Amino acid sequence: MARQRAGAPQHRPGGAGTLTVDAVIVGSGPGGATAADVLTRAGWSVVIIEKGRNHLLDPENMARPASDFSNDEIKFIHRHFLGPDPLLEPRTFRIGPEEGDHAHVGEVNSIPSTVGGGGTHADGKTPRFREVDFALRSAYGPQPGADVVDWPVTYGHLEPWYAMVEQAIGVAGNAGENPFAAPRSGPFPMPPGAPMFGATLSVAAAERLGFHPYAAPTAANSVPYGGRPACNNCGFCASLGCPIHAKGDPVALLTRTMATGRAELWPETFVSRIRTAGRRATGVDFIGPDGVERSMDARHVIVAGGAVETPRLLLLSGVGNELVGRFLMVHFQTIVVGMMPFDVHADRGRAVTHVHDDPMIPDPPSRAAARAAGLPWLRGGMVEHSGGGMPVGEAKISPWGPEHGRLMRDSPHRRHVWAFIMQGEDLPYATNTIDLDPKVRDARGFPAARMTYRAGRHELVAYEHHAPRLEAILSEMGATRTFCTSSPGGDFLGVRRKPIPDSRHVMGTTRMGDDPTASVVDPLGRVHGLDNVTVADSSVFPTSSGYGPTLTLVALAARAAGALTGTGPETGTPAMG
Ligand SMILES: Cc1cc2nc3c(=O)[nH]c(=O)nc-3n(C[C@H](O)[C@H](O)[C@H](O)COP(=O)(O)OP(=O)(O)OC[C@H]3O[C@@H](n4cnc5c(N)ncnc54)[C@H](O)[C@@H]3O)c2cc1C
Ligand code: SF4
Repeated sequence: MARQRAGAPQHRPGGAGTLTVDAVIVGSGPGGATAADVLTRAGWSVVIIEKGRNHLLDPENMARPASDFSNDEIKFIHRHFLGPDPLLEPRTFRIGPEEGDHAHVGEVNSIPSTVGGGGTHADGKTPRFREVDFALRSAYGPQPGADVVDWPVTYGHLEPWYAMVEQAIGVAGNAGENPFAAPRSGPFPMPPGAPMFGATLSVAAAERLGFHPYAAPTAANSVPYGGRPACNNCGFCASLGCPIHAKGDPVALLTRTMATGRAELWPETFVSRIRTAGRRATGVDFIGPDGVERSMDARHVIVAGGAVETPRLLLLSGVGNELVGRFLMVHFQTIVVGMMPFDVHADRGRAVTHVHDDPMIPDPPSRAAARAAGLPWLRGGMVEHSGGGMPVGEAKISPWGPEHGRLMRDSPHRRHVWAFIMQGEDLPYATNTIDLDPKVRDARGFPAARMTYRAGRHELVAYEHHAPRLEAILSEMGATRTFCTSSPGGDFLGVRRKPIPDSRHVMGTTRMGDDPTASVVDPLGRVHGLDNVTVADSSVFPTSSGYGPTLTLVALAARAAGALTGTGPETGTPAMG
């Protein structure tokens, strides 16, 4: 097992003795790493506990990145290099209780379980939410069946934190290019990187049809920044670790945290329970790589396991109210594919370099579509301009025999496909949940997380409305054929498709609010009824917007940690960097 550099807390998961730290942080993904950076900068001692392996930080000196990543599709995509292994850590899925305990056991919309969490292999589009995303109920009103609410936090509250975390992780972007963007207090820390060739064509086609594409704000260096090099557009980006660490979230935060000497990071260690006494958490129980369960004390517990594992841990611990796990949201993806008669060179670049937001702004056609469907309003999501697959994936779907070599050379999928993925706003329904599966357990013997999810009518109507508009852009770009699908699928439009969502954007399972009877955590992420347990990930989102969740969860995590330490832009005391 990779060991870590000693910080202030002198303890190891396999060692004996009692340890008390200022904070124990569960999970080392973007949320946990952000909290660690803010807390250690303010002088707190922290232990970050991560159930996955460490391939991100040099085990000899965790203030330096490691070199375990490579442009290896088999290692990352097919061999669970960054975990979780669905045989050892299964999840279960069902559309609803009519399917019994579960209908599927295995991989369910999982994000890497490793030091750095999903930040290690996301391609890192980091847009901010807009003002309206925090006030959906006030702006548009309710939706049948959904519990649409305003956030207890506004864009104005979060703007200084957005600005701070963009600097901390290094976001490349072009302020002012997106006409729909919320106001910013300053520019991006660096300009956007090189566009993908296919994106230059889809951007031009979209503009000809009246859409407003722009360079996607991305947490990958376009120039050397933070001691890390600029992206070289290697083409193996989404779902793979960056071999040169041009992606900044969360390696920038974790290396800085470890350099303070006030943190320890324990990989391959699972937090099995948050221990409580009255209104306070006293620490956690954990199982290290030796399989032995131990305990540690902490003044604060920060839970940043992601929006599936965080509610699972709260449920395993009996922490939180009866709303824990409810209002799961995943982003309903509309996927539109165009076959291009020319080479779009989609195998080069950062997977997505351009996006457009138009489907998130209700316009006369979308209002008409909503009326026709009997809905009060309709919102889509941010549209990612993207390419086809990778070589091994293409080989798997190319027929064997003499034709195989020719097909691989011609590359109809990798180099002749251009696609749009719309991350459609997924409304919060009380019946979409994470809970504990009554039968399936992980390799350590703990109940697996069970996802119960059914897309609502709003999401399906948004798909039907926006898919043809996106197909029109691909036709304008030159596609000879287009088709569309969605994730999750389902038994709509007369066809039954894969019902398990694949978005990897998971939100909402410990929603925040002022009212303890209608939410799980308060506006600073603190679990109602407990003085010292804070949730620092996208579990706290009351609604999902149609933007990738990561920058917003990172800004919220920084704000929550800043509230504990009394640091941050609101106090005039730097919290990060
Ligand atoms: C291929 C891919 C592309 C993506 N692209 C984007 C994008 O472009 N934009 C965007 O906004 N988002 C994107 N995402 C989503 C993004 O990765 C997540 O939003 C982000 O990682 C969430 O951060 P987090 O810290 O909340 O949780 P995670 O990244 O899931 O980290 C949680 C960590 O906690 C650990 N953990 C959980 N429970 C325990 C426990 N009990 N004990 C110890 N450790 C525990 C987990 O192992 C994990 O490492 C993408 C995801 C993937 C997979
Ligand atoms: S495309 Fe750039 S950011 Fe992505 S993995 Fe390659 S070098 Fe890293």
